[in-house]
Amino acid sequence: MTVEELIIEGKKYVHSTHAKMILADILGVGTLELLTILDQKVDDNCVLLYQQKIQKLMENKPIQYVIGNVNFYGYSFLVDENVLIPRFETEELVENTLSYIEKLFDHRDLKVIDLGCGSGCIGITLKKKIPSLNVTLLDISPLALEVAKKNANNLGVSVSFIEGDMLENIHEKFDVIISNPPYLCDLEKIDPLVSQNEPPLALYGGEDGLDYYRKIFLKALSCVSASFLIALEIGEDQREAIVTLAKTTLPTATIEAKKDLQGRDRMIFIFQK
Ligand code: GLN
Repeated sequence: MTVEELIIEGKKYVHSTHAKMILADILGVGTLELLTILDQKVDDNCVLLYQQKIQKLMENKPIQYVIGNVNFYGYSFLVDENVLIPRFETEELVENTLSYIEKLFDHRDLKVIDLGCGSGCIGITLKKKIPSLNVTLLDISPLALEVAKKNANNLGVSVSFIEGDMLENIHEKFDVIISNPPYLCDLEKIDPLVSQNEPPLALYGGEDGLDYYRKIFLKALSCVSASFLIALEIGEDQREAIVTLAKTTLPTATIEAKKDLQGRDRMIFIFQK
């Protein structure tokens, strides 16, 4: 079958954008480039793979898991059912963190830990952007760590990995602690596409969604250097509660909340120069 025939076939079952995204990924081209090779013949293996992926999408799997990778900050990250699909807001967390690092520290060989790294998108992107950083990726899920390791390999960065529950077993100090922890309330109603597919471990943070922030702050003081930055993604209604937690545990630090591009409170930066 040709590219054009496959797109027409796929469109019968799923949105045409998704059909094109799947085919483009299989053929290793961009979606726009696909339109320049409409007459090209596609080999049988690729046709079969395409049909299987269209089928998966029809079974309500997120497009990112179906394709198997996602673009985050310009880099391609592998994703599967063991990791949260990286979100746009998290790119904003990374972007802001890069500017805080610029402002706060006078050297760049900082020790950074990404707590609950999932796919590794945060820590690996920081390392790509500032190669002199010394980055550790931590997750409680060994399966998530496998994905993060593949991503680090594919993107050619050297980082360390720890299997653990936030800072629980960490006995060293870091200059930067960054995390996008699970922060949904256990009973929160969310899009079934998310609740039925993404790992609950990566989504829910206890009754009020704050369990992982409590865990972080419990050990934060003993895990940060004299000058430090703690960068956290938060749920849009959690700013006040997390600022209070931060003030209680790190009373001398400066705390700044930031909104995302949609104007929602989504990030908190706690630092000491
Ligand atoms: N750090 C990963 C991300 O931001 C995973 C976060 C999580 O699993 N809650 O995508």
